[in-house]
Amino acid sequence: QSKAIQATDTTRTICTYCGVGCNLEVATTNGKILSITAPYDAEVNQGHTCLKGRYAFKFYDHPERLDSPMIKRNGEFEKVSWEEVYDYITERFKYFKAEFGPDSLAGISSSRCTNEENYLMQKFFRAVINTNNIDGCARVCHSPTALGMQRTYGTGAATNSIDDLKDTNCIMVIGANPTDAHPVTGAKLKQFAMKSDNVCIVIDPRRTELARYATHHLALRPGTNVALLNMMIYYIITEGHVDKSFIESRTEGYEAFEKEILNIDLDALEAVTGVDRNDVKAAALAYATAPNAMSFHGLGVTEHSQGTFTVMQIADLALLTGNIGRRGVGVNPLRGQNNVQGSADMGVQPHQGAGYLDVTNDEVNKRYNEFYGVTVPKEIGYKIPEMFEAALDGKLKAIWIIGEDVVQTDPNTKKVIRALEATDLVIVQELFMTETAKYADVILPGASFLEKSGTFTNGERRVQAVRQVVEPIPGSKPDGQIIVDIMNRMGYPQPDYTPDGMLEEISQIVPFFAGIRWERLGKNGLQWPVAEDGTDTKILHQNEFKRGKGYFEYNAFRETMELQDHAKDYPYILTTNRELEHYNCGAMTRRTANEKILSDDYLMINPEDAKTHLIHEGDYVCVESPRGKVDVKARITDEVKPGILSTTFHFPEIMINLITGDIHDSEAKCPEYKVVAVRIRKSKGK
Ligand code: SF4
Repeated sequence: QSKAIQATDTTRTICTYCGVGCNLEVATTNGKILSITAPYDAEVNQGHTCLKGRYAFKFYDHPERLDSPMIKRNGEFEKVSWEEVYDYITERFKYFKAEFGPDSLAGISSSRCTNEENYLMQKFFRAVINTNNIDGCARVCHSPTALGMQRTYGTGAATNSIDDLKDTNCIMVIGANPTDAHPVTGAKLKQFAMKSDNVCIVIDPRRTELARYATHHLALRPGTNVALLNMMIYYIITEGHVDKSFIESRTEGYEAFEKEILNIDLDALEAVTGVDRNDVKAAALAYATAPNAMSFHGLGVTEHSQGTFTVMQIADLALLTGNIGRRGVGVNPLRGQNNVQGSADMGVQPHQGAGYLDVTNDEVNKRYNEFYGVTVPKEIGYKIPEMFEAALDGKLKAIWIIGEDVVQTDPNTKKVIRALEATDLVIVQELFMTETAKYADVILPGASFLEKSGTFTNGERRVQAVRQVVEPIPGSKPDGQIIVDIMNRMGYPQPDYTPDGMLEEISQIVPFFAGIRWERLGKNGLQWPVAEDGTDTKILHQNEFKRGKGYFEYNAFRETMELQDHAKDYPYILTTNRELEHYNCGAMTRRTANEKILSDDYLMINPEDAKTHLIHEGDYVCVESPRGKVDVKARITDEVKPGILSTTFHFPEIMINLITGDIHDSEAKCPEYKVVAVRIRKSKGK
């Protein structure tokens, strides 16, 4: 008879997966993790987790964990000591900096890492290398949110908290499938939608689970968000539901905005969206007439050529109807990765340093120079796609990538591979031999969230304590310590990595972290901005916007170049989605029991299209774009309309980014994963 092993210790920490930021209670014995549950007093998740947070932790001691630094010699990775790898890296970094200048080096930091580690990584590139060539995964997910909300409100973060659902009457969920991508918040949104008096508007090409419970589902053609939102704004104005006193007292630019909106061509916009104008009008009036309305948006908004403009329209809708600055309203981006908010807050962006301070501004530059004790550059650095272009042009000589599988998750895989192959020194700091790590010259084995301490910032601006549960596996090191070690060897002395020490430094340079101290975080963290006395902020923009007045800007719909150039030969539109069981490139979740639940990818295809191509459930479908082709098994479903296909990017065996393209958001350079022109045929598989 087996006897249950008893836990000898429990540690409270934060989930490493999505931006909900669930609190976890991790039970251990003899330095091994037994189980994960969720504390009931967690304000974020009240005792709940999803399948990923509770069960997908066994990757941490998986036999495939990288357990030694490695240098590639003659095409083979050789295990080396930490001393040797540090000497190798610093000698090469110094050489490239001296020979080709600081801008020949670049870094990609990670939302898997803590705030403190992200802060250190950007500090390394700005203060030690002297370049602003530092970027992170926000570039490929919510960079349009940050930019669009900054332009409209002055700051690019969620205005309210998920708890505000208790005080709202209407939710508008656009371009997001929270059931799979943000499951704990997704469950709350579903509960809200099921109450009879509540209004739930879902704007999404797919009939997602939430859409089934929605009072309004606008299933628009992928890529037409701007057209549909302009129609909504038109109806709110023409039906007399604008909040005139709010517009007069708190905003600017309305007159010109209204003039443009009143001139839109409703017939043309109705045709491009594929949504009946009466349905659009009904949803618009439901949002505008609700006493309180909240909006939530995801990557179906941002990963488009007009992503930033769409975010600005969502923000404008809130201005137009006065749904901002109090409880139960606001604009709430559903941040994808657990710490994507934090990595941007910490300055992992080429145009803004720690605290979103503009690197080109003279005052800011003076402040950074004094704080870091060196001259920090004022020129905006490369965004991730520009890093790859620079590598292909021979300008980028070295890149240090932490916890980001760019080969699998960035668009146009073949181009990314060519860029890495063209870079003289590729350093990859990782847990596993990912698709990107295979192209590295140097591997640095980092530590998982269970093996280190620091803070993560969730999608509600909530800075929460990540507490070390177990020792890093032998041979690996916490990522922050690796960065500190390299800074020291590069001649920029740093104390050892400690979360309290780092937070103390961050609070002196990031204005909205002024009152954040490790010992003040307690069980539920603090929502920034946090004043010197430790008072945090649940609701932004209550009396005035960060930029002073809220800003209206009209933007017209423009068809993406992907369809303008290729729709004739590639008549289907492929869009991408996520599945509950897996997380991004799958490096972590696919090394857990979740792999047994979902081990293969599939292509959602409408029954009409399947019939046209004689495709049956489970048949392989060759999906071909101008960039390449992949074979995926068919799942026949009316969740997608005829002409629309959808699949994930979790599986390197499929490598869907072989067929995604080079088109980016015109403003923030976020890739357009959501509209790919393709053609299909039944195939025999690989
Ligand atoms: Fe983790 Fe997100 Fe699931 Fe919560 S909802 S357990 S943060 S993946």
